[in-house]
Amino acid sequence: MKVYVVGLGPGGAEQITPKALRVLKECDVIAGYTVYIDLIKDIFPEKKFLSTPMKKEAERCRLAIDRALEGFTVAMVSSGDAGVYGMAGIMLEMAQAHPEIVIEVIPGITAACSGGAVLGAPLTHDFAVISLSDLLTPWEKIERRLAAAAQADFVICLYNPSSKKRSDYLMKACEIIMRYQKADLPAGIVKNIGRHGEEYHVMTLAELKKQKVDMFTTVFIGNSQTKIINNKMVTPRGYTNYE
Ligand code: SAH
Repeated sequence: MKVYVVGLGPGGAEQITPKALRVLKECDVIAGYTVYIDLIKDIFPEKKFLSTPMKKEAERCRLAIDRALEGFTVAMVSSGDAGVYGMAGIMLEMAQAHPEIVIEVIPGITAACSGGAVLGAPLTHDFAVISLSDLLTPWEKIERRLAAAAQADFVICLYNPSSKKRSDYLMKACEIIMRYQKADLPAGIVKNIGRHGEEYHVMTLAELKKQKVDMFTTVFIGNSQTKIINNKMVTPRGYTNYE
């Protein structure tokens, strides 16, 4: 009995790993969030699909476990990497009572990596990944993490930077970071990474504060060493210091 938890990468067919593709080909049932199922339905028309909307993650896992207990091999998919704000953790938690089901996590390219590549090389030094979603994390804790990361001069990568209910969260996050970092720090946003309509913009932290973004965007804020080189964002690691 087997459930794979599979990261699909940012969206485009070229950015799914060969291992993830093989697992999807071999499984009987593909389970996931409706939006992601729609992205891959056409590639696997012969599969059974099990989709539930957002906020129904536990139910999705329960359905996947039921199918596995019936003897079907199930692939539970997440966008990007399944272990980064994805389904890997909850799947392992919910299958705890069924040790006969083997859970295998297949990694995928997370938005920090695929978006970082679009922007250039913003993550070449230590970085912190913070989600601005307060659905499952209290906002006060998110604020503390933002402040700690900025104070320690981490490059910061923000997931879930906005939604309809939280349109001013990116502005608030920038204000917190600006308590510790300069307003002209390089920043970048990447929208629809690996998908139709991919675009990126580089700017300063002060400009980012006024920027409107949607939930299909990943945000990058440099550290004190980050620079813009030919419209790309680069955080030097310091290799040139060897010379
Ligand atoms: N497991 C996913 C993250 C899910 S959280 C991963 O590893 O990438 C959802 C957030 O991820 C979005 O709000 C956005 O900030 C980011 N994201 C995921 N896919 C993206 C894409 N194709 N383009 C831009 N941002 C993306």
